[in-house]
Amino acid sequence: MTNNCLIIGGEIAALRAAKDLIAYGISVTLVNPSKELGKISKMFQSGISDFAFKKNVLRSHLEGLESNPNLNLMNNAQITKIIKNQYPFEVEITQNGTTQNHVANTIIIATGFEVFNAEKIEEYGYRYLEGVLTIFDLEMAFQQQKIPINEKTKRIIFVLCVGSRTLKDGGNPDCSSYCCSYSINQALRIKKEFPSIEVVLMYMDIRTVASHEYLYNEARKAGVLFIRGRVSSIERAEDNLITFYEDTLADSQDVLPADLVILAVGGVPLSDCDEIAMNFGVQFTPNRFVKITDKPVYTSTPGIFACGSACDGVKNVPQCLSEGGAAAMAAIQFLAEKTEK
Ligand SMILES: Cc1cc2nc3c(=O)[nH]c(=O)nc-3n(C[C@H](O)[C@H](O)[C@H](O)COP(=O)(O)OP(=O)(O)OC[C@H]3O[C@@H](n4cnc5c(N)ncnc54)[C@H](O)[C@@H]3O)c2cc1C
Repeated sequence: MTNNCLIIGGEIAALRAAKDLIAYGISVTLVNPSKELGKISKMFQSGISDFAFKKNVLRSHLEGLESNPNLNLMNNAQITKIIKNQYPFEVEITQNGTTQNHVANTIIIATGFEVFNAEKIEEYGYRYLEGVLTIFDLEMAFQQQKIPINEKTKRIIFVLCVGSRTLKDGGNPDCSSYCCSYSINQALRIKKEFPSIEVVLMYMDIRTVASHEYLYNEARKAGVLFIRGRVSSIERAEDNLITFYEDTLADSQDVLPADLVILAVGGVPLSDCDEIAMNFGVQFTPNRFVKITDKPVYTSTPGIFACGSACDGVKNVPQCLSEGGAAAMAAIQFLAEKTEK
């Protein structure tokens, strides 16, 4: 009875935590709102090297997990009520219209983040200007082999930090950490497949952290152009799009026509997760992510741990994996202390 953990979330951070807990003989109940595990992760197939890595990681995490007798996998499920918000915790879980109460001795929050809705920046014309897409749309186009590029395409502009590093339009004041590397990877891919197309990245600062710097170097070598510019608006001309921007190095206002404009949408905190985590009594950062105490993965509520992009800010896959493992270890330690008492 003491050896059980409730994990909320069904992506990479949650899977890492589940895998580690089960390896230590802990029973895990995993509440996942989707119909399958790793659904979001599976969508990013052509991303940066981490995603190639992630595909294998995803596979290795799913292998044997779903059929493990120590896993009570609840797909299509949501926590609909917090009945008791301290050890031993009690929640109501609704799955396919049926509710049940569940007692958990420890909880791991791995509910992740949401992609910023580019429609909120009206001046960029997402959804109503033809040719304005997000990195996510472009990803899907690559996968479906329906890239909106033809012999008339002359220039493609990527706009970085859309909804990141700003409070404007409901954005996330923090850096979303994946978008620079991810966009540069897409730009590089276009440049390699269509060398005659001019590919331009308008950036605030380039943050290709750690080993991802190679992408930045490779892109420059391949001829991708980098302009330190802030885009104020995008308008439709007869044949193309006109991008109005401030060149922040030259300190001048400028315009650049393009056939496609790709918005590098960042990540924002979940709105509905707030409610669940808040009812557990955990504290939040000023930017509405679950707050971590001075000990990594520990929330302000004893027995509740958090990992991945749900806490502190949006992270990349390797960071989410490390935190998933750390949360599992913290939960095991908590259970051991409770058993000793
Ligand atoms: C377009 C794009 C490209 C990216 N490219 C890269 C890349 O190339 N490399 C890289 O390292 N990272 C990349 N990232 C970041 C990467 O997606 C995140 O690091 C990672 O997905 C975070 O994993 P997570 O498990 O913390 O959260 P998420 O992947 O956000 O998963 C959260 C899970 O929690 C579930 N959930 C949400 N609310 C609830 C609730 N109330 N109850 C129960 N479950 C809930 C969700 O359904 C989901 O299963 C990219 C992100 C985007 C958007």
